[in-house]
Amino acid sequence: MKALVLEAYGRFAIRDVPDPIPGPGEVFIAVKACGICGSDVHGMDGSTGRRRPPIVMGHEAAGVVAALGPGVTGWAPGDRVTFDSTVSCGACWHCRRGEINLCDNRRVLGVSCEEYRRDGAFAGFIAVPASILYRLPDGLAFEHAAMIEAVSIAVHAVRRASPALGASVAVVGAGMIGQLVIQAARLSGCGLLVAVDPDPARRELAARSGADETVDPAAGDAAARVRAATDGRGADAVFEVVGAAEPFQTALAAARKGGVVTLVGNLAVRVELPLQAAVTRELSLLGSCASSGEYPACIEMLARGRIDVRPLLSAVAPLDEGPAWFDRLYRREPGLMKVVLRP
Ligand SMILES: [Zn+2]
Ligand SMILES: [Zn+2]
Repeated sequence: MKALVLEAYGRFAIRDVPDPIPGPGEVFIAVKACGICGSDVHGMDGSTGRRRPPIVMGHEAAGVVAALGPGVTGWAPGDRVTFDSTVSCGACWHCRRGEINLCDNRRVLGVSCEEYRRDGAFAGFIAVPASILYRLPDGLAFEHAAMIEAVSIAVHAVRRASPALGASVAVVGAGMIGQLVIQAARLSGCGLLVAVDPDPARRELAARSGADETVDPAAGDAAARVRAATDGRGADAVFEVVGAAEPFQTALAAARKGGVVTLVGNLAVRVELPLQAAVTRELSLLGSCASSGEYPACIEMLARGRIDVRPLLSAVAPLDEGPAWFDRLYRREPGLMKVVLRP
C-alpha cells in the first residue's frame, strides 16, 4: 500500500509499504480521510519526542471496513467507520471504570515514542482493534468524520467542566480545538461566551462558532476584558486551549472566585502557578485528556448539524500532497485550520 512516511525529522516521502495484517480482534480498514493534527506538525521536527522516524502518522481518520481479523463479529466489509485515536486495553483498572482515556496501557495511533510505536492512518490501509470502531451514518462525509476525534476532545473538555445552564464561559485559544470547545459550550447552554486569541481570522471564526465577544490578548489585559464582560467577577468556566505560559495565566486570571479552569492545551511541559491566587480564590483546576466515551454523541451531533466542522476545514487533498501540506502547516501559513488528506 501507499503510505506517507516521516523518514527523518522534517522529511516526508510517499512510499510503498507492506499492508498491515489484522491480528485477532482487529479490523482491516481502507482509509478514506485522515486529518493532520497539530500534534503531528509539532512532532515532525522531533521537538515533542513522540514522532520518532520512521513512522506513519495520522490518528484522525475515517474509512471503510475491508476485511476482518480472526474472531471479529458485528462488523462487515463495506461498513463506514471512524475509530478512536487511542487504543485502550479494556482490562486495566481505569478501563474497567470506563476511563478509557486514562488506560494504563494506552497507545495512540500514529505515535512512536520511547515506550511504543504504532503506525497511523496516512496510508491506504490501517489495522485497528474492533473495540475502538464506531459506525458512521451514510450522510456523513469521510472528511468531516475525520474531524470527530477533534470534536470528541472538545466535547470531553466541556463535559469535564459541565458549565451550568446560563454560565459565563471564556475560551483562551481559538485554534481548531478552541473553536470546537466554543461550539460545544454553546450546545451545553452556557450564557455569555468570550473567546481570546491574538489571530484576527480566528477571532472572526470564534464569533461565527458562537462567541459573543472576542478579545485580542495583544491589545491589553485579556483577563481584565473578561472580568469587565462579567460584572467584574470573571467567568464561571474558563478553558485553556493553548498550553503555554501566557494563556495559562490569562485563563487563571479570567476565572471568577470559585470558578473552574479546564486545561486542554499542553504544549509547554511546565508553567508557573500563582499559588496564592489559586488558593485564596478557590479555583478548581481540571485537566482534560483526549475523550472517554464521547464518540457516539459526537457522531450524532455532527450528523445532525449541531456541531459544524465545515468552517474549520481548510483543505482536502490527496495523500501525495501530504509533504507539501505538512510544510505549509509547519511554516504556520495564516488562515490554515484543518487539512484532511485522502489516501
Ligand atoms: Zn490529534
Ligand atoms: Zn486499559
